Amino acid sequence: MPERNMERYSRQILFQPIGKQGQERLLTSRVAVIGQGALGTVIADHLARAGVGSLTLVDRDFVELSNLQRQTLFDEEDARNRLPKAIAATQKLARVNSEIEIHPVIADVTPRNVEELIAGADLVMDATDNLETRLLLNDACLKAGIPWIYGGAIGSSGVVMSIVPGSTPCLRCLIDEPPPPGALPSCDTVGVLNATTAVVASIQTAEALKLLTGHAPAAGVLYLDVWEGTFDRMPLERRPDCPACAQGQYEYLAGQRIAWTTVLCGRNAVQIVPPDERGISLEELERRLRPIGRVTYNGFLLSLEVDGRELVIFPNGRAIIKGTTDEAEARTLYARYVGT
Ligand SMILES: [Zn+2]
Repeated sequence: MPERNMERYSRQILFQPIGKQGQERLLTSRVAVIGQGALGTVIADHLARAGVGSLTLVDRDFVELSNLQRQTLFDEEDARNRLPKAIAATQKLARVNSEIEIHPVIADVTPRNVEELIAGADLVMDATDNLETRLLLNDACLKAGIPWIYGGAIGSSGVVMSIVPGSTPCLRCLIDEPPPPGALPSCDTVGVLNATTAVVASIQTAEALKLLTGHAPAAGVLYLDVWEGTFDRMPLERRPDCPACAQGQYEYLAGQRIAWTTVLCGRNAVQIVPPDERGISLEELERRLRPIGRVTYNGFLLSLEVDGRELVIFPNGRAIIKGTTDEAEARTLYARYVGT
């Protein structure tokens, strides 16, 4: 670790609730940012610049042109190269702050790996795009006793809630059961403004800086709308019958509620996670698939274009099937070209 130059943090140190002592705490803090999309890139950028000493950036996806409207760490070259978001974000932030450690992880967060991904973290930042993964993070963080900060954004509206195990209500105190598919508006149907994601991520960052420097989080749940210009903080009590924080039943972590095939929000694509982590040789797959369709391999992931669809395959066997939202069709294509 190179010698740290505190001058770069001078404006933050002048802010009295942080001060020099708070800055020193930030520099020895470890934060896991789950997701490197619209919320995750802004959060990671802020935390790196604020001098959080160790960041783990987790994302399952690669950069595409439609991300650039709001995912502030990426550029056109990243999209052309289809770099994994965790890698592209790490490369950018290494140029922003070379004095901190940044660990990129290309992975989908599942019940199998979530505990390992957050192990050792002082704080977990939710920058995911679906409720199932958030409820999984809720279980894992409660079990490990790690605070986490929920953030969501859609259209012009957003939500932020800080969760401290043993102290505040948890996400299942707020939402017991995710609504059935299609019941809620999604970025598929209503889109999202960069102003919304930037504000939500910034409020999550402020909560992170507070918690990491020993301050209490804001209580309750913040609902905001950047188009209407409204901010409303609603009180929330712990539910005495909450399965997660009251009864210690971690149903999402136990994998009882996670689907392995996921229709990706706004992408006309389906993700498939095989039931077991399998190591796939993408070089070998490239040779096998070359006669079948257009194949490209960039060292991180392999793409096959065939039948008007595109399969993007990762080394652990995970795949994103583009051009369809039909889960059964996606499973068929996966079985046909990748194997079962
Ligand atoms: Zn709860």
